Amino acid sequence: MADDNHFSLPSASRRSFLSLSAAASAALALRIVTEPMLAHALVHNAPKDAIRIDANENPLGPSASARDAAAAIVPQGGRYSDWLTDDLVKTLAEMEGLKLEQVRVYAGSSEPLHHSVAAFASPQRSYVTADPGYEAGMFAANAVGAKVVKIPLTKSYAHDVKAMLAAAPDAGVFYVCSPNNPTGTLTSHSDVEYLVENKPKGSIVLVDEAYIHFADAVSVMDLVKAGKDVILLRTFSKIYGMAGLRCGAVFVKDVQLVPERKRINARIRGGVFAWLDRNGYSYVPSESNCFMLDTKRPAKAAIDAMAKQNIFIGRIWPVWPTYARITIGTAPEMEQFQAAWQKVMSGAVTASVGELPSWGELGRRKRNVDGIVMSG
Ligand code: PLP
Repeated sequence: MADDNHFSLPSASRRSFLSLSAAASAALALRIVTEPMLAHALVHNAPKDAIRIDANENPLGPSASARDAAAAIVPQGGRYSDWLTDDLVKTLAEMEGLKLEQVRVYAGSSEPLHHSVAAFASPQRSYVTADPGYEAGMFAANAVGAKVVKIPLTKSYAHDVKAMLAAAPDAGVFYVCSPNNPTGTLTSHSDVEYLVENKPKGSIVLVDEAYIHFADAVSVMDLVKAGKDVILLRTFSKIYGMAGLRCGAVFVKDVQLVPERKRINARIRGGVFAWLDRNGYSYVPSESNCFMLDTKRPAKAAIDAMAKQNIFIGRIWPVWPTYARITIGTAPEMEQFQAAWQKVMSGAVTASVGELPSWGELGRRKRNVDGIVMSG
């Protein structure tokens, strides 16, 4: 679906185009919402030299072996080459000890996330998620007319599985993101198991492990193996650094990649946290490649003051209005982040709320995020 930036129609045609509405709006409503749509909604075209630590991307990009393999396959790009998908399914199934029919591959995990919600949530079966949590599934739930039930994280920032169960006896989908986006905090294997054992009949537990490789966390893959009502999402977009390429077959054979990148991210993250501690700034300790930072003011003002210094930090979750999400960038990027943050917190650089558009205004402009109404 093109947006206002990409095409325009004369007003009469625009009216008749809009009057196609039932089908058109259904198609629009089914649009898959992704992290870049959410992350770049405010600032779509940042300056080329900007530091972007706003979309949980991996600044290291694809590994050298993956770049070589991707380049080597370009000459075959005219062919559908669907056997490569079969090869990837086989490799993943072998790695995880799953049956072939238990594995599906997509160009990123946004699409299966959306489809899982669309398949199991409905006007009669609600969608249950954590707050703050990754928002994409809520948009899928809205698209199919399902009620969205948001449950605050526990004091240790885990999903509150008992509260999730209690709040929605009619649930169709329980979405558990671990490590959680945006907090980078974990929900234990035993909590997910509890959810699976006590959920209403006919519902599924959708576990999103997009960031698991960054953390010392136990996967719930064993629940998939055991044939429980669990759909598990993984992606090559995060530790593997392939968010823009949207494919990943060659990476799984690079055994050094995950431990090495996990170490790099943990080292830089540890350095940032130590600096924040030394300077008395509050944040939520994360095990992932992003964390929530308390700006001690409406977070939009801090985000805008950072943008004035060419550093684009992440968005706000309305339930925590003074926090902004920060993605771990490279070490030099995080040094620049720290210098800029110091200036914002000391009041040397300020921005008044309203210099950049609010989420509400964005909803009205419908740029980039057609059909999405954001609050805050
Ligand atoms: N799940 C979570 C929690 C995410 O943060 C993202 C992207 O940031 C995705 C899924 C989807 O990513 P992709 O479609 O690039 O695999």
